[in-house]
Amino acid sequence: MANAIPPSGKTFVVEHLDPELEAWSSLEYLTIASESHASGAQFLLSSVPTTLKLPANLQQVQGLKVETRGIEEIYADKKDRVCLLDPAASKDLSPEDGDAFDVFLFGGILGDDPPRDRTSELRKKGYQGRRLGPVQMTTDTAVRVTRIVVQDRVPVDKIPYVDHPELKINKNESTEMPFRYVVGKDGHPIMPEGMMELIIKDTEKGLDGLL
Ligand code: SAM
Repeated sequence: MANAIPPSGKTFVVEHLDPELEAWSSLEYLTIASESHASGAQFLLSSVPTTLKLPANLQQVQGLKVETRGIEEIYADKKDRVCLLDPAASKDLSPEDGDAFDVFLFGGILGDDPPRDRTSELRKKGYQGRRLGPVQMTTDTAVRVTRIVVQDRVPVDKIPYVDHPELKINKNESTEMPFRYVVGKDGHPIMPEGMMELIIKDTEKGLDGLL
């Protein structure tokens, strides 16, 4: 049941805003599902079109609940407990927001450069908004940072980040990712498993197109 209370009391909702579900998004959603599950939170992927066939890796994953309904219908009776993570919000997320809100809502949008502000599609619904600092994050990073702030109660400006990391594609090429990431214990940006390989594949495809 979508609204059952998870052990942490927190639910992270990604409202899927694209008609398709790209390989990048499915790796991000897999990571959000497993990290949410491990932390005792619930992860809901909402507004998934009935016609969309979920990729095989997402069909069986523990910790993921798929909803064809949208956020407004699912939480119609508790709108004031829903917080939209919004790069344009005037206030940053704080550990105390962990008491004020039960549901944290994110745009299921691939990052773009420059950002096209597709989060506005959710902003218009009138939820209270909070920012995670001034730099655009990938969706899985935004959920990770929110979890660290509201569950582990670490202030958003005390989390170690790396902005716009340069990733090595091969001996000669590298590519700059236009996002902010959390730095892992190994000193590298935390990314979904398989993401590095996908970035390398996509960049090489792009480079081939230039030849
Ligand atoms: N370029 C995008 C846009 O069109 O709005 C940003 C999309 S970002 C990849 C996906 C989601 O992560 C956003 O909809 C938002 O919920 C969250 N997010 C990313 N960076 C954020 C930030 N600095 N503050 C608050 N939320 C953020």
